Amino acid sequence: MSAEILVTGTCQCGRVKYTSTSLPRDLSNCYCLCCRRLSGGPFQTSGEFPTESVTFTTGTSSMRQTSYSEIADRQHCAECGSQISMQYKCEPEIIYLTVGTFENVKGELPPVGRHIFVGTGKVGGYYEIPRDGVVRYESHSDGFEKRIAEWKEKNLGEGRG
Ligand SMILES: [Zn+2]
Ligand SMILES: [Zn+2]
Repeated sequence: MSAEILVTGTCQCGRVKYTSTSLPRDLSNCYCLCCRRLSGGPFQTSGEFPTESVTFTTGTSSMRQTSYSEIADRQHCAECGSQISMQYKCEPEIIYLTVGTFENVKGELPPVGRHIFVGTGKVGGYYEIPRDGVVRYESHSDGFEKRIAEWKEKNLGEGRG
């Protein structure tokens, strides 16, 4: 028996499609420069999924992987450019899917639970993050910062000497 599909998603041109048997555990808005450039707007919203729940059903040959930092890989559709997913090397059990690529969702999505990489002042000088009571972090959430630092020390040999 296979688990029920709760989320389906697609890139803009339809070549890349995915399914998930889990709803996202959490949504987060990232205001880092990389997410802003890639999304073309003030932030990118991602949903956190267990990697094992996500299947790319078509278009994996159209998917390209890029790494803009040493700690994470991002995947996009090479044909239409849609940002699809991101994974941190320190947590391969989690995949972040861009919420803008969701197509059908069965059930209710969680609210945005985090604003990350908020910086100071208006984002990009033009966008004010709404005062919505959602927790804000200057970079990653505190626990995750620590996990990345530990991963870096172990894998990249940083933080020594
Ligand atoms: Zn595409
Ligand atoms: Zn970001």
